[in-house]
Amino acid sequence: MAYDSNNIFAKILRGEIPCDKVYEDDFALAFRDINPQAKVHTLVIPKGAYVSFDDFATTASDAEIGGFARAVQAVAALEGVTESGYRLLANHGKHAHQEVPHFHIHIAGGESLPGLIA
Ligand code: 5GP
Repeated sequence: MAYDSNNIFAKILRGEIPCDKVYEDDFALAFRDINPQAKVHTLVIPKGAYVSFDDFATTASDAEIGGFARAVQAVAALEGVTESGYRLLANHGKHAHQEVPHFHIHIAGGESLPGLIA
């Protein structure tokens, strides 16, 4: 699947649409989900143009993958959920109901979570 540079997260990255920003570095941008499913529900996206986890893991550089993983950890710490615990989730493709075709990881926490985020 080709990357669509008009997807909503690409627009957020370009500053065309506002977001509730939590963190930004060379590799990643993090902002709060517009429709939170938990007390803490924050999205972390790579700065590069990747459709999904599958695309990212296949084609991103080691530096981007490493930088992104470090950013996810930093965002969880900033959101105050490292001690209490959090869930990471990434939807890839149709069966997972991926809504936005720019790779993102959900960080959910801030309360005891149900078995799985639907
Ligand atoms: P997906 O199903 O693709 O893994 O999740 C997409 C997530 O992006 C959803 O949880 C949805 O609430 C969130 N989302 C969609 N549009 C926007 C937006 O414009 N701003 C923010 N902050 N979150 C969004």
